[in-house]
Amino acid sequence: MKQKLLPILAPLVIAVALVFGAYFYFQNWPIAHAGVYGQLKPAVTTTLNERKFTKPAASVAAVRIEDNILGAKAIMPLTVVTTDKGDNLLVLIDKKIRLPADYVPANLVDVAGFPGSQLRSEAAGKLLEMFAAAKNEGLNLTIVSAYRSYQTQVNTFNSWVASAGLKSAESFSAHPCFSQHQLGTAVDIGAVGKTTFSNGFGNTPEGIWLAANAYKFGFCLSYPAGKEAITGYSYEPWHFRYIGVNNAQAMINSGSILEEYLQKFGVW
Ligand SMILES: [Zn+2]
Repeated sequence: MKQKLLPILAPLVIAVALVFGAYFYFQNWPIAHAGVYGQLKPAVTTTLNERKFTKPAASVAAVRIEDNILGAKAIMPLTVVTTDKGDNLLVLIDKKIRLPADYVPANLVDVAGFPGSQLRSEAAGKLLEMFAAAKNEGLNLTIVSAYRSYQTQVNTFNSWVASAGLKSAESFSAHPCFSQHQLGTAVDIGAVGKTTFSNGFGNTPEGIWLAANAYKFGFCLSYPAGKEAITGYSYEPWHFRYIGVNNAQAMINSGSILEEYLQKFGVW
């Protein structure tokens, strides 16, 4: 009897052991990988814009990554951090780190000559300087979209979801609070009289000039081509973020894209 049962029982025991082993391993995953986002408090689940996110308890305002994380897999744990460092030019805002809904940047000003477009004053000044430099080379740049409040983001994101579907919308539009546009330092730039929001912009004289020169004025391309696995967003040749001239120069020198640079040197 025993000899007959053994071939059946042995695989069963191994299977049960494997299931329990896997369960305990993944339960401890956040602790074993705490370096990713530092020590996180017990997570709570919240519903944000009809999409489930797991975010740390409310008191976890800013958590520092100690490791040098460059791969998308390393930043995949479904933990969302809300940062209170929005006023810092080097704050990292991405698919896992967001601003509070009520965050409004300091020193927002209307960009002269562009009614309805606001940026933080330092970014606005450098943007106009950059536009003037481009104009000297016969290129007419314009603002397509600048600062977006939380409510504007809600409207923008929802309208994209309605027209493109959630999955597609997420590849190019941020959930409210996760948008660099809420910082008042991000700007979508277009060429006067030409179509924008297409990859083709990167191949226009204006797009090429911006890619090559924006850093001299403190602006960086947030979502470069071929870096989707790192940024979480598809290529956006029109979307630039101001981090200051010295920082932008340092970023270029380091060979990193903005996401990598801010993971290493930014705050959140
Ligand atoms: Zn943008």
